[in-house]
Amino acid sequence: MAGAADERPPGPPAEEQLQQQHVACQVLPERLAEGKPGQGFLSSFFTNNQKCQLMLLKTLETSRSRGPGAGDPYVKLLLDAMKHSGCAVNRERHFSCEDCNGNVSGGFDASTSQIVLCQNNIRNQAHMNRVVTHELIHAFDHCRAHVNWFTDVRHLACSEVRAANLSGDCSLINEIFRLHFGLKQHHQTCVRDRAILSILAVRNISKEVAQKAVDEVFESCFNDHEPFGRIPHNKTYARYAHRDFQNRDRYYSNI
Ligand SMILES: [Zn+2]
Repeated sequence: MAGAADERPPGPPAEEQLQQQHVACQVLPERLAEGKPGQGFLSSFFTNNQKCQLMLLKTLETSRSRGPGAGDPYVKLLLDAMKHSGCAVNRERHFSCEDCNGNVSGGFDASTSQIVLCQNNIRNQAHMNRVVTHELIHAFDHCRAHVNWFTDVRHLACSEVRAANLSGDCSLINEIFRLHFGLKQHHQTCVRDRAILSILAVRNISKEVAQKAVDEVFESCFNDHEPFGRIPHNKTYARYAHRDFQNRDRYYSNI
């Protein structure tokens, strides 16, 4: 698959990106066909596309193994939840490693129900796990409800709030801030800011309109923790959430 061109025509950019730290977001205006040569030691052996495929494999494969420490608990739970909701995820069908414009890390293409992984911007395995988690939350929302991604910006806003809140995007940073600055409200602020940036990355609307949409839905969507049942601030919380989800599943299947 050495930098192989993706044959699909570029669909409408159904979505957005996972902002990394303070990096400015950019739209996924089209899905680029050409692979770019990478840099560094590994790149002399693997293309970006091969590295992306290998990391994705690890993200998804380890998610099937059992026991503490095995795999990424966020991804595990989301894959279980998708299956439980009748939207089982298939690696070859639902993921696509592609080059993207700007600093975009990933996106969810609602028109094809596909998660785009930006092979030129995803830096390492931990980053891959976070991007997959973030996009799976959108896929979960897409599966469980009729989301008007394009016609109602509040629907997009809600899913972005949930993805920022539940994916650990903010929790990692939150921990650092808490440690250094003691900002207790940082998590909520981070979730709100990221949701606004994600919307602006895919919608040609003003910052004020994006802020208004996020503020309108914030309370209910920030408090909607499905399928985690709680805000998974770190992997331990996510592991508990996964255990609870499995137990809840068992309980409901017995009645
Ligand atoms: Zn998003």
